[in-house]
Amino acid sequence: MVADAKTVVYRALSLGAGVQSSVLALLLSRSDPQLLKRGYSKPDVAIFADTGWEPEYVYLHLDWLENQLDFPLIRVSSGDLRANLRQGRTVSGHRFVDVPLFTVDENGKKGMLRRQCTNHYKIAPIYRKVRSLAGGRRGRRFPKNNRVEMWLGISRDEVGRMKASRESWVDHRWPLVDLGMTRRDCVEWFSVEYSGRRLPRSACVICPYRSDEHWLELKRREPDSYNEAVRFDRWLRNSTKNPIRELLNGRPYLHAARRPLGTVIADREAQGVDLNHFNEECEGLCGT
Ligand code: SF4
Repeated sequence: MVADAKTVVYRALSLGAGVQSSVLALLLSRSDPQLLKRGYSKPDVAIFADTGWEPEYVYLHLDWLENQLDFPLIRVSSGDLRANLRQGRTVSGHRFVDVPLFTVDENGKKGMLRRQCTNHYKIAPIYRKVRSLAGGRRGRRFPKNNRVEMWLGISRDEVGRMKASRESWVDHRWPLVDLGMTRRDCVEWFSVEYSGRRLPRSACVICPYRSDEHWLELKRREPDSYNEAVRFDRWLRNSTKNPIRELLNGRPYLHAARRPLGTVIADREAQGVDLNHFNEECEGLCGT
């Protein structure tokens, strides 16, 4: 028996607005011959999910990128992370902390909250929008033989982050992996093609997955946002009327050292540490 043929009806580039997905978007817009050879022509859309709490330089980069592309770039949002987190609520209003804060309880036991913000603020709104753009109707099954391709900006050095889609109507594809491009290749390509312009690493201002180097970058490039993160970190523990504390067993921190963010980063600066890690990121959506 011959299986039903599947038709790709829509192709979306998931744009995290970081290094890799920005370079991928630019290569696609230029109809890069190596990408064309591997079956990647223009996507129908590049789509960015906005948590409402990225540094300003990421939004400026996004505006610049939009002007470079010859396919549409759209922004979606499922809610305001800053407002929801301060109330200890998720996008759907449940009392829950969905950002992966580091914790330590009264016995000194360390913990970390499960990261669910990626799903709530990045994956869900992107899939919802793409489903509708691809012809899916609310409450109805997606047409059986139709497929959507989601192109993700994961590079060859990050193959451990390649995961199949959880949605039956979506196939994930990784053009940079197919090209054999690493994150470093992306940075080098961009510095040659857009000399003098900086590529941002995107992540929410308060993202606990920032490396020390990434915190330092925020501090130097956008002190107001860094100071906001420091204040938020302090508020997490000190405020008496704090809905987050009511939901947690233990004291929450933004930094893995489970010490105040401002102190840890000041220490790192004093040590002249210039680390270069960004190990944990949102699955191909934040930071790439
Ligand atoms: S960047 Fe960090 S805080 Fe923002 S959605 Fe991703 S994991 Fe969550």
